[in-house]
Amino acid sequence: MLTEFAISTPQNAAAAAFLGRKTHRHLIGGEWVESSSGEYFETFDPATGKSIGQLARGSAAEVDAAVAAARKAFESGPWPKMLPLERSKLLWRIADKLEENIDELAELETLDQGKALYVGRWAEIPGAINQFRYFAGLATKIEGATIPTSINYQPEGKEVFAYTQHLPVGVVGAIVPWNSPLVLTAMKLAPALAAGCTVVLKPAEDTSLTAVRLLELMQEAGLPDGVVNLVTGLGAEAGAALAKHSGVDKIAFTGSTATGRAILDAAKGNLKRVTLELGGKSPVIIMDDADLDAAIPGAANAIFFNGGQVCIAGSRLYAHSSVFDRVVEGIAKQAEAIKLGHGLDPQTQMGPLVSKHHASKVASYIDDGRKAGASVLVGGETCGPNDSFVVPTVLTDVTPDMSVVREEIFGPVVVATRFDELDAVIAAANDSDYGLAAGLWTESLSTATRTARRLEAGTVWINSHAMYDPSLPIGGIKQSGWGA
Ligand code: NAD
Repeated sequence: MLTEFAISTPQNAAAAAFLGRKTHRHLIGGEWVESSSGEYFETFDPATGKSIGQLARGSAAEVDAAVAAARKAFESGPWPKMLPLERSKLLWRIADKLEENIDELAELETLDQGKALYVGRWAEIPGAINQFRYFAGLATKIEGATIPTSINYQPEGKEVFAYTQHLPVGVVGAIVPWNSPLVLTAMKLAPALAAGCTVVLKPAEDTSLTAVRLLELMQEAGLPDGVVNLVTGLGAEAGAALAKHSGVDKIAFTGSTATGRAILDAAKGNLKRVTLELGGKSPVIIMDDADLDAAIPGAANAIFFNGGQVCIAGSRLYAHSSVFDRVVEGIAKQAEAIKLGHGLDPQTQMGPLVSKHHASKVASYIDDGRKAGASVLVGGETCGPNDSFVVPTVLTDVTPDMSVVREEIFGPVVVATRFDELDAVIAAANDSDYGLAAGLWTESLSTATRTARRLEAGTVWINSHAMYDPSLPIGGIKQSGWGA
């Protein structure tokens, strides 16, 4: 099974041409520049393990240059002074460029990240386009307030006129993870640009290709030099240098909670603002009155979409005792029916995980669960020519202390627990360091509204999961998010 793939090379000519360049550079001040140290790092197709390109390995030197370029564009370039309508038009043109090149971008994302093509083509890249269009609209609506005051120590007849203005924060360092690279990058760039900020972008080392292509498309759309700069490289080098840089006014970070903590420490030097969008271990609760025909595929999709490499994945399943067997059996059947394959194959429903290394990390969580007494109902193995696939896995007989229940696995692994009482399941769902999201399946409006309020989660979906729109907040509480 999965020893070779019918399709593993780009079908789109533009994607093939992009990969044909082999090496990719940084973008600093509008110029594509080589690695200053001469060092490059490989990026791989995780399905096959084959190298698909080399990226410039950025260091503190490139971060210095990129921050200086972003500062110049902010202080003396056209960007913050540009009419809001002009910024808006440019953001809209960027969205158009993405749309025109969507097939190329989707194939590049699949080859670099592993995801099934449909995930990028129909969900994530349209999501990135929506980000640019939504914030194109907001660029002209950044409004302050006038504030009535009651200051009584003014000379008679004098009034105080008080108002607020929202001004761009300055140079933003944007650091993104590898699970959904393009849409998460758009979520950083679009709001920063709409507000008039300039940016230094550091994509994840495993998945930087679409960031390179995005920046080229942004240049074609007319982005002024230095407004967005790209430094590719490793987290501990380029990422850490950006996080601590005294010329950066804000870090907007999406990634793991552990790295989020390191970024907070690094940001102390100049007390830069920090927004952290972090990990999760989101509960999905299926009540005894739920519509199981919707809840079972909904809960399966909540964990298996994008191979479970989703911050808001529904990785802890709680089903009422009266429906538990039917729910778990239904999800197990769905898991077994998922077609694994190379992401470029249109038949594929789940590709490999982002790397062999990550697949082995997920597998070691499953082993830990087994050793602690969990039962593997389906899945539990890795496979594929690069051993980078994890077979969709359902674990039962789990207890709240197990690492598979407490820690973010970030793979296609769900842990299933039964419950009898609403209060008990709310307590179990809240027994987590994370508080990113939750799902609740019930036909009772009263149960839905009362329970949603009590779940410690930034977002609670009722009879759905992972519904996302740029108009909706996606902030986490507890150790899933920080700052605003
Ligand atoms: P990660 O924290 O390892 O890396 C994220 C980014 O930080 C990468 O670009 C990496 O190079 C960089 N980085 C690593 N060390 C750094 C350092 N010391 N200083 C500065 N930058 C550094 O995360 P990951 O494994 O790439 O992504 C998976 C995580 O992201 C999961 O925990 C997932 O839940 C989370 N995530 C959260 C959201 C959200 O909206 N809350 C969305 C997607 C992913």
